[in-house]
Amino acid sequence: MKRILITGAAGFLGSHLCDRFIKEGYFVIGMDNLITGDLKNIEHLFKDKNFEFYHHDITKFVHVPGKLDYILHFASPASPIDYLKIPIQTLKVGSLGTHNLLGLARVKNARILIASTSEVYGDPLVHPQTEEYYGNVNTIGPRGVYDEAKRFQESITMAYHTFHGVETRIVRIFNTYGPRMRLNDGRVIPAFIGQALRGEDLTIFGDGSQTRSFCYVDDQVEGIFRLLHSDYHLPVNIGNPDEITIKDFAEEIIKLTGTNQKVVYHPLPINDPMQRQPDTTKAREILGWEAKVSRSEGMKITYDYFKTLSSEELLKEEH
Ligand code: NAD
Ligand code: UDP
Repeated sequence: MKRILITGAAGFLGSHLCDRFIKEGYFVIGMDNLITGDLKNIEHLFKDKNFEFYHHDITKFVHVPGKLDYILHFASPASPIDYLKIPIQTLKVGSLGTHNLLGLARVKNARILIASTSEVYGDPLVHPQTEEYYGNVNTIGPRGVYDEAKRFQESITMAYHTFHGVETRIVRIFNTYGPRMRLNDGRVIPAFIGQALRGEDLTIFGDGSQTRSFCYVDDQVEGIFRLLHSDYHLPVNIGNPDEITIKDFAEEIIKLTGTNQKVVYHPLPINDPMQRQPDTTKAREILGWEAKVSRSEGMKITYDYFKTLSSEELLKEEH
């Protein structure tokens, strides 16, 4: 039986990856310090004999007994609100945490896939973003703590590949959404849905002309699964190229939720990227992958999930 370590297992993407690898017949070892994750996301796996969980901060030495075939490194705060609140932990998990996991991959002779991000392109001057684009990141801006941690993560991963012959994979994830996102994590989809459910106005940052391209979680997991099992070690974009302005997206949410609320405008956060759309040619050619779930299908499932949350959870103020 293949054994896989998944860091960030109690988070949004990590928990869906745990589900997928359990379903594929792997022995899954989840690891998380719960700084932004929630055990609720994986509690259904605790009774599974092929699942084990370690409560551990991966910036400290990481030890896993027994053999390991694969590592998926997904631990990191991912929402702008989170990484602005815990900037140093964000830098540490991307740097020290990644170093620990690459070391573990080396001693275990395991293949490691790291979760990078479209944020390595910063506020991009090339559109859509291809993997060859080097990016436009402000190192000392507030978002720099996340973007630079991820850029360092890619560099050290390539160095372990080149100098130690570790089998590495790098996925550049574009905005992904679905059930198990935290309602109050500040990302635009939970933010808008939460506001609609609470009967509040939808907060658009800036004039809403900035764009994003939203990928449903099942598509993302499929792309990651294929990349892990491919023989390609350079970065691959995984995302849905269907691009939309935040203003038009707010209108879609208003229709979807049937809310009577309106939109209100707040200042644009510093260095908020103005446009983002993945060029997915590589994913198509190398992995035979493309996004299948449309925004309307994916958003319906996501809205249905958020509707099941209790009013207590809905009203919980995190920030
Ligand atoms: P999330 O916050 O839901 O999950 C991250 C998990 O990592 C949490 O459970 C958190 O507790 C854990 N974690 C953080 N620091 C840790 C540490 N030091 N030790 C152990 N565990 C730690 O976020 P997510 O959206 O699931 O993102 C997962 C990964 O995917 C991140 O690396 C993120 O950068 C990357 N990513 C996500 C998106 C997206 O749209 N969701 C886009 C680009 C990249
Ligand atoms: N955004 C917004 N209102 C909100 C939350 C976010 O207009 O309540 C905007 C944000 O400024 C950004 C886009 O939505 O332009 C996507 O933000 P998110 O935090 O989801 O992801 P990221 O900026 O990391 O792509």
